Amino acid sequence: MKNPIKHLAAFVSILILTNCVTEPEKGSMEHLVKVTEQVNTERLISADATPEDWLSYGKNYNEDRFSPLDQITKSNIDSLGLAWSINLGTKRGIEATPIVVDGIMYVTGPWSIVYAIDARKGELLWTYDPEVPKGYGEKACCDVVNRGVALYQGLVYVGTLDGRLVAINAATGEKTWEVLTVDQGKAFTITGAPRVVDGKVIIGNGGAEYGVRGYITAYDALSGVQDWRFYTVPGNPADGFESKAMEKAAKTWTGEWWQYGGGGTAWDAMAYDPELNLLYIGVGNGSPWNRDIRSPEGGDNLYLSSIVALNPKDGSLKWHYQTTPGETWDYTATQHIILADLEINGAPRKVLMQAPKNGFFYVIDRTNGQFISAEPYVYVNWAEGIDKETGRPIETSFSRYPNMNSEIAPSALGGHNWQPMAYSPANGLVYIPAREMGMYYGQPNKFTYTDDGRSWNTGSEFNASKKVHEDPMARQFFGKLIAWDPIEQKEVWSVKQPSPWNAGVLATGEIIFQGTSEGDLVAYDANTGEKVWSYPLETGIIAPPITYEIDDVQYITIPVGWGGVLGLWMKFTEQINPGTIYTFALGKNGQLPNFPKQTAKEVVNLDFDAMEEELQHGEQLYLRYCSACHGGGDKPVGGGTIPDLTYSSPEIFAQITQIVGGGIFLEKGMPNFGDRLDESDISDIKNYILSNAKKAREAQIVANK
Ligand code: CA
Repeated sequence: MKNPIKHLAAFVSILILTNCVTEPEKGSMEHLVKVTEQVNTERLISADATPEDWLSYGKNYNEDRFSPLDQITKSNIDSLGLAWSINLGTKRGIEATPIVVDGIMYVTGPWSIVYAIDARKGELLWTYDPEVPKGYGEKACCDVVNRGVALYQGLVYVGTLDGRLVAINAATGEKTWEVLTVDQGKAFTITGAPRVVDGKVIIGNGGAEYGVRGYITAYDALSGVQDWRFYTVPGNPADGFESKAMEKAAKTWTGEWWQYGGGGTAWDAMAYDPELNLLYIGVGNGSPWNRDIRSPEGGDNLYLSSIVALNPKDGSLKWHYQTTPGETWDYTATQHIILADLEINGAPRKVLMQAPKNGFFYVIDRTNGQFISAEPYVYVNWAEGIDKETGRPIETSFSRYPNMNSEIAPSALGGHNWQPMAYSPANGLVYIPAREMGMYYGQPNKFTYTDDGRSWNTGSEFNASKKVHEDPMARQFFGKLIAWDPIEQKEVWSVKQPSPWNAGVLATGEIIFQGTSEGDLVAYDANTGEKVWSYPLETGIIAPPITYEIDDVQYITIPVGWGGVLGLWMKFTEQINPGTIYTFALGKNGQLPNFPKQTAKEVVNLDFDAMEEELQHGEQLYLRYCSACHGGGDKPVGGGTIPDLTYSSPEIFAQITQIVGGGIFLEKGMPNFGDRLDESDISDIKNYILSNAKKAREAQIVANK
């Protein structure tokens, strides 16, 4: 060497550089780049090899939400306490599952906003707001929620409420690319988490309460270029079919279904078997719900309420299994799908498990879609059972509410909804966040289906006062965490819960974690259901917890934000605090954030002057345009995140024409109904609300006597 000093300097700089590349400071930009770029197809396929991370929505491609981390046990759980919390300052529902890689967490809140968090310190790294126009909230059937992101090779993917798919730089929080996945002129929304499969990011959408046609789309994960699209229901045959699957499906529809959209939105469940090269998608309900309207001569209406298995290379259909042929109750099959290998009758089977809304727990052969077994996991009266030969339901005579209203169980909320289950391969049990609840379904008196593309159109009536098929069992109203044996198809244990709207589930080691509507994060013994720990978080919980490990310490994180479809109408806690991410570990005893106490409000007391028929008209309009968010008119309770109007101030009522018909609260998320409601309509709605307030005051007086 001619110049040893220069050589030494070069050597040292290489040392520094090498050191920087291999050991960047945790939480630094370099660290984020490094750990997120390493999340590739291979890592996602072998996600269970790194239990310290939680790499995708369902934890792995089986979507089993089981973590082998077992530091937290029945014997030490008493010392589980708050490590940190982050107040997101949001108001609406949080349904998201966080994703974690080497202590870096990505989670979503209301309005599809993405948060990157350093989970070592409990510090916010960046926020990405896709700036969803707040007026879009009226197209969201079930709150402005989002269930989470996907992560792949340095990009974070979020589906936005207004139908975009956005890829964000995982280190900087800056947008890398964005595609529009829907026709924004229609009432499509995205609340589900994308999944990345075979280098493609897969995203569905919702809107089957509003008259859309469902589909799922695959985009190249790095470039955002569309790869394929699978429609779930056929369009107008005169326009030609997109695929053989649609041609086949069209034979199961009658009338002019395409006029109604058809539905079948794939708004949540996906799972993937890399060995079989099959992507499983859960398909939603019919649009409108009532089959008599959308397909008047009957028919199975494929692929509504089905599980479809697609080739992820090209989106072609490999097989389907329809849980609810001729769907007419909003019985989606979009609920969580879990893949497992079980021994059934002495033979190893590759199965797919689902507890869709219709109340039956299904075990299906995931290689070919063959029916294996199904038994009711909650009270069911729409069908007597599932025919073991055909795999089809044996419907009861009153189930399609032909000539009268029928009390049917489960309700449109389902025996189980989007709240994720968990499956523990350790003890073979599936944990279902279920509910016992039915409702009235009926034919509309006269044909009242109208389509403005922006409000609920179910084509069904929910009036209990009409002549009904009664069933007191369908009047149950409570939640149930069920431990289910999928081989024996029976309940092993269950915990009854006061509210029917509880959170998703996590299975870790020997413990099951679940949040409740009453605001508690609860731990149960996985084998017995014994409650072993609980922690009060003041606000109702709907999102599922996750677990991960940093520096040999196991953490539990639970996002809390009350809402979702039932959460818009009811609450089960005194307080509704802002959206907050809470993280727990053994030996920690952090303090809860000190949120201001909310005070009770008085029911509004204003004079009004309206004829009975104006009040009835006001009620109809209220139920159509207001109740999905503000709650069911005659029961002044409210979910606490959106105002219950019977408690609104006289100042609000003084401005009601401008609020409802002038869009002055658009930025708060209140839509402008000016193109659909005139001044006299708004006056009828106002008087209807005031008449409910009067009834509420009178009821109070009676109660006080
Ligand atoms: Ca639905």
